[in-house]
Amino acid sequence: MTEVTVLGAGIAGLAAALALRDRGVSVEIVEQAERLTEVGAGLQIAPNGTRVLRALGIDPPGPESRAVHLIDGPTGRSLIRMPLGPGFHLVHRADLIEALAARLGDIPLHLGRPVAGVSDGGRRLDFSNGQTRAVRRLIGADGARGASRHFVAPDHAARWTGQVAWRALVPVAGWPAEAQVHVGPGRHLVLYPLRDGRLLNVVAVEERAEWVAEGWSQEDDPQALRDAFANYAGPVREVLSRVERVHLWGLMDHGAVPAWRRGACTLIGDAAHPTLPFLAQGANLALEDAWTLAAAGDPAAWEAARRGRVTRALATAQANARNYHLTGMRRALGHGALRAVGAVAPRAMLRRYDWLYGHDVTV
Ligand SMILES: Cc1cc2nc3c(=O)[nH]c(=O)nc-3n(C[C@H](O)[C@H](O)[C@H](O)COP(=O)(O)OP(=O)(O)OC[C@H]3O[C@@H](n4cnc5c(N)ncnc54)[C@H](O)[C@@H]3O)c2cc1C
Repeated sequence: MTEVTVLGAGIAGLAAALALRDRGVSVEIVEQAERLTEVGAGLQIAPNGTRVLRALGIDPPGPESRAVHLIDGPTGRSLIRMPLGPGFHLVHRADLIEALAARLGDIPLHLGRPVAGVSDGGRRLDFSNGQTRAVRRLIGADGARGASRHFVAPDHAARWTGQVAWRALVPVAGWPAEAQVHVGPGRHLVLYPLRDGRLLNVVAVEERAEWVAEGWSQEDDPQALRDAFANYAGPVREVLSRVERVHLWGLMDHGAVPAWRRGACTLIGDAAHPTLPFLAQGANLALEDAWTLAAAGDPAAWEAARRGRVTRALATAQANARNYHLTGMRRALGHGALRAVGAVAPRAMLRRYDWLYGHDVTV
């Protein structure tokens, strides 16, 4: 019988299967999708995630990002441009999934197998079609709303953040390999190029009173996105004028699940701790989880060692949301301070994140 069954062939699940196989553990993957297709859009892979990919024998499948440029959205005025060191990459999620899947070799990947529930102390998968499958150890890598999370923490509820996010891809030519963050009261927008600068990834966040459902497949009217940023400076409006298709989702704060294990089941990635997108760490933490769990062997010791770092990353993402959307006097003061730091020591802001990007889970 296979030693470990991984539920979910996202970034966490594929990386966990590779890391286990490379340690001589027999492993299989169960995934609901019929095919690993072109879904999703841009991901920012940071050095802490890049180290895991390289340890798995994978080069991040996208260009290095040279900088993060904070810009005041309504005026278009530069606030601070922070040069990045090596290891930051701009990656299409589909390209990363493909690169991970290409290394599976003889690891069985069971596609088209939606799991409705986990039972028997984490030793049984109950498929939507009524079939069941006994497993020895289960890694739940099936995302924020997956069956394994429901099994481990059935009562854990997410909190509506009062924010929605749009994402879109716009064809461009020659966009510089850097992330631009256009900030303003109540909303911000992130732009960065993918695939040799041929596509621009657009993620826009707006504070809203009405609740909007979570999920990656809900479409919205591109005009709603344009209207939300109508008072932003020309380059943003020009990019948004070319959006033809846009997805919208409500941002829920799930926090970390209070326990990541129950019986034979251990949660990793978004199943354990979906993060808000304001630190671009979801995929990076998923990669770290995959590597560290495989290296630890003992899930209890892994969870005890891992929680502090994940909790700190989640809290940092929450704080960024507040800082991007400042209003009034706090905005004037905050932006003034950013410009002052940007003029003399633009790398100083990033040094605050040394604990995050400088960490190497593979040593
Ligand atoms: C379709 C999709 C598109 C995304 N697009 C983006 C994006 O553009 N930008 C971004 O920053 N992040 C995106 N994400 C999220 C991002 O990939 C994750 O936040 C991060 O990479 C952590 O990944 P994960 O592997 O833990 O979870 P996920 O990426 O959510 O992967 C979970 C996997 O489990 C499978 N699964 C879920 N439920 C079941 C079930 N019941 N039975 C069997 N299999 C199941 C899913 O099909 C998926 O393959 C996307 C996620 C998905 C699923």
